[in-house]
Amino acid sequence: MKLREKIKEHKRLFVVAGPCSVESQEQVEDIAKALSTNGKTSLLRGGIWKPRTRPDSFEGVGAIGLPWLVGAGRKYKLPVATEVANIQHVESALKAGVDVLWLGARTTANPFAVQEIADALKGVSIPVMVKNPINPDLNLWIGALERLQKAGITDLVAIHRGFSVYNHPKYRNSPNWEIPIAFMEKMSDIPIICDPSHICGNRKDLQHVAQKSLDLNFEGVMIETHNHPDKAWSDAQQQITPEALESLLNALVLRETVIKKEELDFIELQRRKITEIDDQVFELLKERMRIADEIGNYKRENGIVILQAEHWKKTLSKYLSHSEDSGLSEGFIHALLDAIHQESINHQNAVMNKG
Ligand code: PEP
Ligand code: MN
Repeated sequence: MKLREKIKEHKRLFVVAGPCSVESQEQVEDIAKALSTNGKTSLLRGGIWKPRTRPDSFEGVGAIGLPWLVGAGRKYKLPVATEVANIQHVESALKAGVDVLWLGARTTANPFAVQEIADALKGVSIPVMVKNPINPDLNLWIGALERLQKAGITDLVAIHRGFSVYNHPKYRNSPNWEIPIAFMEKMSDIPIICDPSHICGNRKDLQHVAQKSLDLNFEGVMIETHNHPDKAWSDAQQQITPEALESLLNALVLRETVIKKEELDFIELQRRKITEIDDQVFELLKERMRIADEIGNYKRENGIVILQAEHWKKTLSKYLSHSEDSGLSEGFIHALLDAIHQESINHQNAVMNKG
């Protein structure tokens, strides 16, 4: 199977669905049957070996589950995919006839493991999907794909599943959309799909995250689907039934990726206005830094330190208090002011220490 071609054929809604973990033959068959009737699922996923953060959690049924997964796929005409994390997994999965392999986030973060898998796949023609590493490191993600490419694997797909953070207020794994966007820029020939299940860690936000990914030009989604989600042996709180998946997919809006000629006039006009504003912002920032330099000179001559924490605190809170009426989020205001402040400090530092 050429996975990349299939993804292209699906025109941005390639769907990977199936349980977090394969639990029994009956479970995976039930799920495959329900998924095959809605007609939208293109690839059946099922974890056989589960890399769990803490010991004593369910770590997957192991190789015994491979024929259940492959059998369910064959029975309901769905190609199947599973996660591999070492050579033994690769060998068993290939022997069992698994159609697509994927590298999990914890594996992508480990170049030794990735290299071992890449070496085991030399001369094998199989599609491989690579999840982002658990830490927000774009190069580690790209590096994993490069290791596979160097081993001759050409049918590669990336999966965005968010990044580990301590106590995120909203998500299990923070989406940091700027990273997959940078990935698209650097690895434009590798299709990328989104895994809202592991980003959200719950059911209620799946729709929103899936929609957002499509609006950012992702080419599909991977969503964990279980016949009895509440009773799932792993990731119960984020799994949904095949029926819920169908409603979620039906509610997704697939917007155009290319702007039509007749729409271009309006967009071009607005873009010109934005460019004018950006030009002004740039000029103002230049002027701001020029004044920061003057202050830097004055501080140098009078022996005053650069950082004036009280003044900075006042400035920050003044603009943060305008967050609501300005329509700018507190996070944005904070990040913007921090960047400007840091640049001013760098300027003053240069002025103070010249010569
Ligand atoms: C999974 O897909 O079930 C899984 C373990 O995902 P991740 O590697 O993204 O944590
Ligand atoms: Mn899972």
